[in-house]
Amino acid sequence: MKCPFCGSFEGQVLDSRPIEHTSAIRRRRQCNQCNKRYTTFERPEEVSVMVIKSDSRRENFDRKKLWEGIARACEKRPVASETIDKIVSEVESELSDYIMEVPSSVIGEKILQKLLDIDAVAYIRFASVYNKFADIDAFMQELKKLKKEHDKKNKK
Ligand SMILES: [Zn+2]
Repeated sequence: MKCPFCGSFEGQVLDSRPIEHTSAIRRRRQCNQCNKRYTTFERPEEVSVMVIKSDSRRENFDRKKLWEGIARACEKRPVASETIDKIVSEVESELSDYIMEVPSSVIGEKILQKLLDIDAVAYIRFASVYNKFADIDAFMQELKKLKKEHDKKNKK
C-alpha cells in the first residue's frame, strides 16, 4: 500500500477490523518512512454471482435492481433509505455462501425475513412482487396472520 503522504510502499498494518454488515475491512496503517498513520478500506473484488430465476434463466446479481425492488415495496412507508442500504448489504454479504449461483428465491426469502421485522406493508408488497404466494388464498391467509399478530402486539 502506497503511503498517501510520502509515497513510500514500506508500511505496516496496525489494526484490521471488519465493517459491520459488509465484507469490507478497515485497516489502520503506519508508514515506515514518514511514520504517518492512515486508514484504508478494502473490499473483496466484485464477485459476480449468477442469480437463477424461477424460469431457470440466469442473470448477474444486480445490487441496484435489488435496491430498487425493496425501495418500491417501501414506498410511502416509514423505512429510511439507510435501512434499505443495510438490507441490500446484508443480503449481498450473505450471498458469499454461494460460490457461483444462487436461486432468486433464496434472495427473495432473505429480503422478506428482513422486511418482516421492519415494516409489514413493505413485506406484503415485496412478497407479492416476488410471487411468494402461489395463489390469492395463500396471500389472504398471510395477510390475516399478519393482522392477527399486529393486533396482538397492539393490545399489549
Ligand atoms: Zn509516508
